[in-house]
Amino acid sequence: MKNKRKTISKEFIVKGKGLHGGKDSFLILKPNFNSTGVVFINTDNGEKIILSPSAVCALERGTVIGEGGFKVSTVEHLMSALFAFEIDDVEIEIKGNEVPAMDGSAKFFGEMLNKIPIIEKEEESDYFNLETPIEMESGGSYYKMEKSDCFKIECVYENNHPLIKRQVLELEINKENYLREIAPARTFGFDYEIEYLKKNNLALGGTLDNAVVLTKDSVMNKEGLRFKDEFVRHKILDLLGDLKIGGLRFKEIKITAIRPSHKANYDLVKLVTARSVYGKTK
Ligand SMILES: [Zn+2]
Repeated sequence: MKNKRKTISKEFIVKGKGLHGGKDSFLILKPNFNSTGVVFINTDNGEKIILSPSAVCALERGTVIGEGGFKVSTVEHLMSALFAFEIDDVEIEIKGNEVPAMDGSAKFFGEMLNKIPIIEKEEESDYFNLETPIEMESGGSYYKMEKSDCFKIECVYENNHPLIKRQVLELEINKENYLREIAPARTFGFDYEIEYLKKNNLALGGTLDNAVVLTKDSVMNKEGLRFKDEFVRHKILDLLGDLKIGGLRFKEIKITAIRPSHKANYDLVKLVTARSVYGKTK
């Protein structure tokens, strides 16, 4: 159950507006040859945030991490791509305080990581060692983790909306499946929520170019959906991004996630990282 830690071989730039803050951000992802995990660096003053469960400071409509006064919002889609590509260590210099929304999915991040050669280091990566199955409930979400022949996720997302109803997807998580089946799935919201979100300073940068907006019985986006079950696919994308917070890789484990949310995903991550102390992952 050992594999080498990985980083990217060269830097790449991400720029654009944040979904919630609506402001421009500029990021440079750089190789990290120290085994310090995912490190955000504020280009204005050098402040750092090391991604970990204790760095999480808000989970409303996205995952916000922070250290002191330095906060970065909506990290989950970029983290999802890093998780899928098994990038353990990377430095992310950021001018701004939110990861750009791009097209609302992880397509850009996945495609960039797919182009850049990945470097394997001497040091071993940390895996989650599941000894006995885990079941967990949190605020209406349910999770189960059990041994499997590969790392896979089965996700169930339910909503009364006629385009959603009950969407179920089970998928082996590897780079190829991620790029094709998960990374292009966009974030979504409902038209009746928009006023409430904007009043609460959320989704200020939200447009039909970076989110799917559902009306009573359809979608506002002219191009329609990228997949009939784009919603459950995006839930898997978010779950992978939240799992990245724990800094562990997964192998030969099946996670069943029923109605997952960022808050509940975070509870799962805390459970997993607490257990890994006993799991001899190092
Ligand atoms: Zn999302």
